Amino acid sequence: MKKVALVFVLAVFVPSLVLAWLAVRSLRDQQFLLEKQQSLLYQGQADSLARDAQELLAEYQRSFTAATMALLRDQNPQELSKTFDEVLRKEWPMAQVGFVVTLAGNILSPSPSSTPEARTFFSCNSRFLANRESAEVYWNQKGAPLNAPSELKKVQGTGYLDKSEPATSSGLYDSLKNSSLNSLNNKLQARAVVPQQALQNLDAAPTKSSANQKQVAEEAGNFSKVAPSETEFRQLIGEANQGTLARFVDDKLNVLFWCRAASASQLVFGAQLALPRLSAGLQQRIEQLEPAPQNQICLAILDDKARPVAKSNPALKANWKRPFVATEIGEELPHWEAAVYLLNPTALARSAQTIKLTLGLLIVVLIVAIGSGSWLIVSDLNRQLHLARQKTDFVSNVSHELKTPLTSIRMFSELLAEGRVADPERQRSYLSIITAEAARLTRLINNVLDFARIDRGEKKYQFENCDLVGVVRETVATYQPQLEASGFHFSSELPSSPVWVKGDRDSLAQVIVNLLSNAEKYADSRKEIDLELRQLTSPLPYAELKVKDRGLGVPKGSEQKIFEQFYRAHDSLNSGIQGSGLGLTLARQVARAHGGEVVYEPRSGGGSCFCLRLPISNPA
Ligand code: ADP
Repeated sequence: MKKVALVFVLAVFVPSLVLAWLAVRSLRDQQFLLEKQQSLLYQGQADSLARDAQELLAEYQRSFTAATMALLRDQNPQELSKTFDEVLRKEWPMAQVGFVVTLAGNILSPSPSSTPEARTFFSCNSRFLANRESAEVYWNQKGAPLNAPSELKKVQGTGYLDKSEPATSSGLYDSLKNSSLNSLNNKLQARAVVPQQALQNLDAAPTKSSANQKQVAEEAGNFSKVAPSETEFRQLIGEANQGTLARFVDDKLNVLFWCRAASASQLVFGAQLALPRLSAGLQQRIEQLEPAPQNQICLAILDDKARPVAKSNPALKANWKRPFVATEIGEELPHWEAAVYLLNPTALARSAQTIKLTLGLLIVVLIVAIGSGSWLIVSDLNRQLHLARQKTDFVSNVSHELKTPLTSIRMFSELLAEGRVADPERQRSYLSIITAEAARLTRLINNVLDFARIDRGEKKYQFENCDLVGVVRETVATYQPQLEASGFHFSSELPSSPVWVKGDRDSLAQVIVNLLSNAEKYADSRKEIDLELRQLTSPLPYAELKVKDRGLGVPKGSEQKIFEQFYRAHDSLNSGIQGSGLGLTLARQVARAHGGEVVYEPRSGGGSCFCLRLPISNPA
């Protein structure tokens, strides 16, 4: 048994508990995993929106160059340079101001007095365009150099990019970092927005040393990847034929496109992009995007102050500085971001909570199932073991019970057969002992056989209307002489009129004999047995037969167990009283088959009282 329990614990219980523990641990990571998945998904959306914005800028750059080249084809460059601002704004409406500057730094257009925009442009950019000051610019040079082979070439200690390289923002950024321009100044700047997911990454690494904190913060995305370089306009142009540059003047973004024609390589034609038009273009792009995730998220383009310039959900009001995820657009629009906002931020936490709850419940149910299954198996094992032990005891008890009467029968019958007993009185006494022992033997064998039949469901009862008073009287008449011979004081109290029950006479007689024989066996020194039969009416009419003794009584705690098969409250070893543990089991089974019951009641003043209750039947 111990071995089975040990195997069970090692093979089933411990692995189940370990699995349950692992499952509980993984529950704690559910929300984090869900957010990670969501953030990966939405980060992809933000990245693609940022690429869209870059493409739009590239389109504008191309259309500006095309418009300028068309004008240059139609007009003399010198003539065009005087009226370029006006002409360009007509031809290319994305321009806020058109400008022309010579490589030497003379600004030919616009005239500062022509329009308010031109005046502002002049005051902001003239010194930078005239190469009289170096400024912080975010740059993006495109197109092959006018007079140089297609490889990296140094000009006056400054550099420009290898144009054979794809002009991706990161490639450009890396090149910038390596270039000597970069050595002037590359500032680490904070981003205008703090994406929630990036913050969580930072939170998730609180154990890192403070030396690593900055690196962690960078990884977490709190610092901009887009850094300005300090340079003069002439240095920046180098030998390239077109490009985009962005700079902040008085905290306002200026996006400048420029290009040069081979026919007038000393002149740089440029345009300041009208930001309201750019915003309208971005809004159009966002509206053309696939509408699939729009019921869950809002896509937005934010300017450098984290104000939305275009958004997919026009009605949304949010804390624009705290998007779910965001990506910087790049050098073309420095510190502008493509951001994703959750329309229902609590939905994520709620669904994580639901998953957590469901899994938690499942684990609890599993643990309970494993626990109760284990308990059932162990208790069944226990029961089987107990039964096996009882059966072994039963075999030895029955053998003993068979042997004792057989020994007496043999001994007395031998004495009589050999004629060694001459006294007729003693002869009669020996014969009555033989009869009593034979009856005891028959009773025992009947009990065992009947129990086996009932156990297999083969017991057949001959139910008939019978007078219980008559059955009791007949049974007592056969048993009373034996009791009196053993020195018992026996009294019986029976009703004068018949008590009708529907029953099997032999089985009922067997129950009465079992109760009387127990009263005799467990009588101890006070040899008194009372039997009474009464007819009662409440709650239904029933007959009650009581067999009372003043003997050992049933020990506390065994009152119910004595009706279980093979159970003996007074075992043979300690009490010296023989028994099979079947008498009461059988009595109860017979009573129940009759719709009645056998119960034990303790008696005040010591001893036991066993009640057989049977329903009264109508003799008609
Ligand atoms: P057994 O063959 O052991 O008598 P029973 O099923 O008739 O088997 O009784 C079960 C147990 O109930 C007995 O072993 C005994 O401990 C207890 N018992 C039965 N009748 C009495 C009684 N009249 N007084 C005390 N104990 C009793």
